[in-house]
Amino acid sequence: MNFFIMTLFPDMVESVLSESILGRAGEKGLIHTEAVNIRDYSKDKHKKVDDYPYGGGAGMVMQAQPIYDCFTSIRDRINGSYKCIYLTPQGQCFSQPLAKSLSREENLILLCGHYEGVDERVLEEIVDMEVSIGDFVLTGGELPAMVMVDAISRLVPGVLHNEDSAFTESFENGLLEYPQYSRPEVWKDKTVPSILLSGDHAKVDAWRMEQSLLRTKMRRPDLLDEKSEENT
Ligand code: SAM
Repeated sequence: MNFFIMTLFPDMVESVLSESILGRAGEKGLIHTEAVNIRDYSKDKHKKVDDYPYGGGAGMVMQAQPIYDCFTSIRDRINGSYKCIYLTPQGQCFSQPLAKSLSREENLILLCGHYEGVDERVLEEIVDMEVSIGDFVLTGGELPAMVMVDAISRLVPGVLHNEDSAFTESFENGLLEYPQYSRPEVWKDKTVPSILLSGDHAKVDAWRMEQSLLRTKMRRPDLLDEKSEENT
């Protein structure tokens, strides 16, 4: 799966995506991530990419031309289908089901805005979907793009060391995950629940399911409501 990230700050993106699990997935060829510098496509002699908003108001707006040319340069070398996504607080909220559905795409082109945002006309021209990572405003789309690449990549077969972990985690099956424990058995006078030491896998599974339900009820009852709506 290929991710093309259109950004004014490619170093910021590359430094994160070359580390840890995603870095290793890249080395193995399971994912390909590429930060493409929008500024390289500016036709301005000073490589300017933003200008004042028509109608006045605070801040600068990213101009249409460099973004459009950056996009077409990526599109023209892509084999197969693609989706172009603009990261914006005005988009649909990112979620595990959306990550799962996007993990089936061959190519994702992610557009990171900055300053006050992006000239609406280029969004109309190139964007298939607008996505937000939450109801707050960040300075740029780079962190949201990295959040998306991370959440989607770990669903690509082979990226996680233990494939099972993606299926037992929070939001799979509409529940939060059960509590986890590791060695030592006693830490600060707190003991690991004895059932986890019993070696009885059926009992462990039943306990974990009970804990998942309890946690979800306490912390995110909205998920249980959604689950019961799905089942009716
Ligand atoms: N003026 C815009 C508005 O009010 O909707 C906000 C612009 S924001 C300061 C600059 C850029 O950060 C946006 O173009 C977008 O790419 C990114 N961004 C900020 N918050 C975001 C969020 N919650 N989710 C996704 N992208 C976000």
